[in-house]
Amino acid sequence: MTKKITRREFIAATGSFAVAMALPRITFGKDAASEVFYTGDISSEGILRVFDRIKDRVSGKVAIKMHFGEEGNKYYIKPELVKELARKLDATLIETNVLYVSKWRNEKDTHIQLARKHGFDFAPIDIIDAEGEIEIPAEGKHYQKVYAGANINEYDTIIYLSHFKGHGMAGFGGAIKNVSMGMASVHGKMALHASAVPNYDGSKCIRCEMCVGNCPGEAITIRPVKIDPEKCIGCGSCISICPTQVFDVPWRSTSQNIFMERLAEYARAVCYGRNSLFINVAADISRDCDCAGWARKPFMEDVGVFASTDLVAVEKASLDLVNKTYGVDDAFLKVNSVSGAPQIDFAHSLGLGNMKYKLIDTG
Ligand code: SF4
Ligand code: SF4
Repeated sequence: MTKKITRREFIAATGSFAVAMALPRITFGKDAASEVFYTGDISSEGILRVFDRIKDRVSGKVAIKMHFGEEGNKYYIKPELVKELARKLDATLIETNVLYVSKWRNEKDTHIQLARKHGFDFAPIDIIDAEGEIEIPAEGKHYQKVYAGANINEYDTIIYLSHFKGHGMAGFGGAIKNVSMGMASVHGKMALHASAVPNYDGSKCIRCEMCVGNCPGEAITIRPVKIDPEKCIGCGSCISICPTQVFDVPWRSTSQNIFMERLAEYARAVCYGRNSLFINVAADISRDCDCAGWARKPFMEDVGVFASTDLVAVEKASLDLVNKTYGVDDAFLKVNSVSGAPQIDFAHSLGLGNMKYKLIDTG
């Protein structure tokens, strides 16, 4: 269920879109270098040390947005790294359900079960789109509105704790992807991935009619299976609901640069007017996303932890040091054949932060 926020409500909450861009909660300046705090100590203590340098920005009820790892994935951020931070802040761990078919991560209860099984049993967990989604004005090139989990509005401060690693379409996945795809409802994820009609293979259909009854666009017919592209709104519910996986995400239906532009637009809409802090953990750097149960083993050594109040700066600093450590100009271009650098350029061009940063080693 979508709860629409009117433009009037948005302006009341943020002080107008233009003013929201200048909110002191996010660094939007283009000239001065932003501070990024770094440690090579990838441990609970290391995370607390870098967080200590940005903690003054924390207020009110705190959420830590993270990824609990797909079943079989070994490389997600481990619970022992976040436990003490969550305890100190009395924080809730937040996540959203996924678009692809997963035994665990399509539904709130099983998603939380998997998180507990992976060791995230020390803090409350909120699957923020389980009760519905909200519509947020975007005023972008690709989107006039974006769709995020409804419970985003339950939190005064959101710390994006992001695993910095590879991604097949985005080159790498870090904070920008954790904010955009990570906070999007299934409807929003579909809009991000595609343009946006699911692929389908009608030979697997058992005529249960669940897709037909749950399609908000009334776009599906099943004798034979067909989607009317004029009616499909790209919500992705047929992908989640079909018991025989007739439908699939059209992952490759949008070019990689457009996909990255979309991620940046979503990130802008999600962050504006919200107190957002960013911690990247560049460890267990697989070339694959944490959604992959089969993710390949890390292709390089661990790099460290980065914290900032500036989304662009924390991504740029993380990518630069990954490249330097791996000894190439673009590590993800080399291993994934996709450069993730355009994500950062797009986010910068949208005013989401500084390309200039000052890396401060906290030991
Ligand atoms: S949900 Fe899947 S199996 Fe059921 S009717 Fe639709 S396509 Fe066929
Ligand atoms: S993506 Fe949504 S609107 Fe499109 S066919 Fe599937 S359920 Fe219907």
